[in-house]
Amino acid sequence: MLKSVIDAIGHTPLIKLRRASDLTGCTILGKAEFMNPGGSVKDRAALAIVEDAVARGTLRPGGTIVEGTAGNTGIGLALVANALGYRTVIVIPETQSQEKKDMLRMSGAELVEVPAKPYSDPGNYVHVSQRLAERLAATDPNGAIWANQFDNVANRGGHERTTGPEIWDQTEGKVDAFICAVGTGGTLAGTGLALKARNPAITIGIADPMGSALFSYYDAGTLTSAGSSITEGIGQGRVTANLVGAPVDFACQVDDREALDVVFDLAEHEGLLLGGSSGVNVAGAMRLARHLGPGHTVTTILCDSGARYASKLFNRAFLEGKGLPVPPWLDRADRVDA
Ligand code: PMP
Repeated sequence: MLKSVIDAIGHTPLIKLRRASDLTGCTILGKAEFMNPGGSVKDRAALAIVEDAVARGTLRPGGTIVEGTAGNTGIGLALVANALGYRTVIVIPETQSQEKKDMLRMSGAELVEVPAKPYSDPGNYVHVSQRLAERLAATDPNGAIWANQFDNVANRGGHERTTGPEIWDQTEGKVDAFICAVGTGGTLAGTGLALKARNPAITIGIADPMGSALFSYYDAGTLTSAGSSITEGIGQGRVTANLVGAPVDFACQVDDREALDVVFDLAEHEGLLLGGSSGVNVAGAMRLARHLGPGHTVTTILCDSGARYASKLFNRAFLEGKGLPVPPWLDRADRVDA
C-alpha cells in the first residue's frame, strides 16, 4: 500500500522495444514514464522541485506554485500540489495541445495562456511565469514560488536520485547507453550523471528535434538551429542550468517524419501509444545502437502517452496539413460492420 499518490511517482517499468531491437541487433529498452500518475516523465521533476522548495522553507503551507510549462510539468505540479495542499498557477504557450490544457484545467490548475514567443522576448511564457510568481510572492499572504524547471537544478537532482539508479538496477548494471531529447535537460543530465557515476564507460546521447539548437551545440560547439518540429516539450535554444555539465558523448538530430514512423510503429505493433518526444527518443536510441554496433543495451525514455496528442499526432487533417504520413489504421477504425 502507498501512503499517497506521491509515492506512485517513479519506479516505472523498463520495457523491451522488440522491433527497434530486432532492426538494430541491440537490446533497446524504454522506461515507461507515461505510467506515472500524472502521465509523464515530468512528475519526477515536479515532485523534486516541490520537495526542494519545502526543504528550503520557500514553499509554505497553502502557498502557490507558479510555472511556465509546455504542459506536462504543470500537470505533475498540479498533482503534487493537490496532494500536498498547494495552489498551482500555470503559464502555457497557446500552441500546446488542447488535451494538455484540458488536463491542467481538470486538475484544478489556474491557467494563463500566452502567445508563443522566443525566449529572447519578454512575453515568452517562462518570463511571464517568473514575473507572475514575483507578484504573487509579494501579494499572497501564503507566499508563492517560481518552480523554474529550466534552471532549477532540483529538477535534474530528482532524475539523478531516481531515474538513473532505477535504470541501473533494472538492467542489473548491464547497460551500455542512455539517450533522450531535451526540454529542460533535467532527464538527460540527471540520468546521465547517475549512470556515469556507476560506470563511466556508459555512452550518453542526446536526440534533438529539428528547430532545436542543441545538436549543433554538442556537435560543433555553436548554438544554431534550423527547421521546426510538431513535437512538444522538447527542443531548446540555450544551455539551461540543468544541462550544464551534462555528460554528452553522442548527438543526433531526428525529424518529425522519422519520429512519427517510430510512434506509429510502436502503436501498431507493440501496443505502446506514445507522444512525439518518445518517437524522437526511440529513433535516437536506434541511431545510437547502430553507432555502437550489435549486442549493446541502449536505454531511453517513453515520456508520455499518445492520448495527450489525439488532436495532432493521430488526426488526419493535422498530419496532412503538415505533409506528414497518416497512420493507416485511422481509416480502418470505423469500417467494421457489426
Ligand atoms: N517529453 C515531453 C513530452 C515533455 O513534456 C518533456 C518536458 N518538457 C520532455 C520530453 C523533456 O524532459 P526534460 O525537461 O527533462 O528535458
